[in-house]
Amino acid sequence: MNVLVINSGSSSIKYQLLDMRTETVMCSGAVERIGEAVGSVTHKIAPGGDTEDWISLTQPIADHEEGMHLVIGLITDAKRGVVKSLDEIEAIGHRIVQGGDIFHASCRVDDRVVDELTKLIPLGPVHNPGHLAGIRVSRQLFPQVPQVTVFDTVFHQTMPPRAYMYALPYELYEELKVRRYGFHGTSHAYVTKEAARFLGKPVEEVNLITVHLGNGSSMCAVQNGKSVDTSMGLTPLEGLIMGTRCGDADLAIYPLLGAEKGLSISEINDLTNKQSGFKGICGKNDMRDIHEAVAQGDSRARLALDMFGYRNRKYIGSYLAVLGRVDAIVFTAGIGENDPVARELTCRGLEHLGIKLDHDRNLAPARGARDIAASDSAVRVLVIPTNEELEIARQTVAVLKPS
Ligand code: AMP
Repeated sequence: MNVLVINSGSSSIKYQLLDMRTETVMCSGAVERIGEAVGSVTHKIAPGGDTEDWISLTQPIADHEEGMHLVIGLITDAKRGVVKSLDEIEAIGHRIVQGGDIFHASCRVDDRVVDELTKLIPLGPVHNPGHLAGIRVSRQLFPQVPQVTVFDTVFHQTMPPRAYMYALPYELYEELKVRRYGFHGTSHAYVTKEAARFLGKPVEEVNLITVHLGNGSSMCAVQNGKSVDTSMGLTPLEGLIMGTRCGDADLAIYPLLGAEKGLSISEINDLTNKQSGFKGICGKNDMRDIHEAVAQGDSRARLALDMFGYRNRKYIGSYLAVLGRVDAIVFTAGIGENDPVARELTCRGLEHLGIKLDHDRNLAPARGARDIAASDSAVRVLVIPTNEELEIARQTVAVLKPS
């Protein structure tokens, strides 16, 4: 089955077409700056393979419909297309960030799903409108193709109330569904299964702390293969220190900033989501730039790294307490997979808790799943490359499989 995975945002559509017989990527790409004066499309054919090829377009792209038409044109192009006709696209999987506590599993798209996603917009105002635009256009352009929604929140729906409730007036939960949902669930789910396979254990028996460190970062306490706690909350703002998001911070900062700086709620929201984290501390949000600044003696960049490592260690310590027995710490995503310094900072001083990195294994420039713990470490430390698109395509196939 060929599955088109779509991650539609407010002004972008990222996509990947996978042949699920072999789990290989036929093409991938991104339409960006939809609705702006000049938009762009970057299209990769057979990415990562011997015949990798690129096409890039720059032109105004009025809306998602025009963006999807461009994608379809590239996928089915007579010369360089990867399929001959749209009939060869057999299913579509949509990535959805906020599924609230309505969606407990991936599901086939129908009018009810669209209605529920629309109702969830107040809980996912940044992402869900863009997802809905992608679904609407895909249903118009591919009326015969079954479509599936795969949610970032679903993996964390197994959290117990003690982990997902905020100690706010209970009515806020009842009336507005104010609670912790957690995100990056597709990534945490994928690396959980891959880690179980790597450890040679059934997924129902693994206890893990999965550490997704990218531009957005989150950790998850996994007990018997299921999420029992995670660091992101009502929105992806809570938890770890990220590229531009502050993570955990006292809510009383909001009224203080309102009173002292005259900032509106939307300005404070922008400040905590887009101007904070690494960027707020040292002016840079990309980890590679932060390392470069540290090498040049930038003390703010050093502070940002120090805070990052400290916050990560605190979360690992608390999840060790939650889980009791832990088989492995699992690093993934851009920073987690590629940055030995970030991994070392995250595990520093945790030897007395059974977490001991092997210096050389951590530094080795390897790819693929690997164990970087010292041989005598009680807890394994794994690096597992995440693959959210493959997980979405696998779940799409699973939902559509005749029962
Ligand atoms: P992601 O959101 O998963 O794409 O991750 C983005 C983050 O990964 C950025 O902060 C990048 O600087 C970081 N990153 C990507 N490659 C490397 C690398 N080789 N070394 C350090 N950080 C990296």
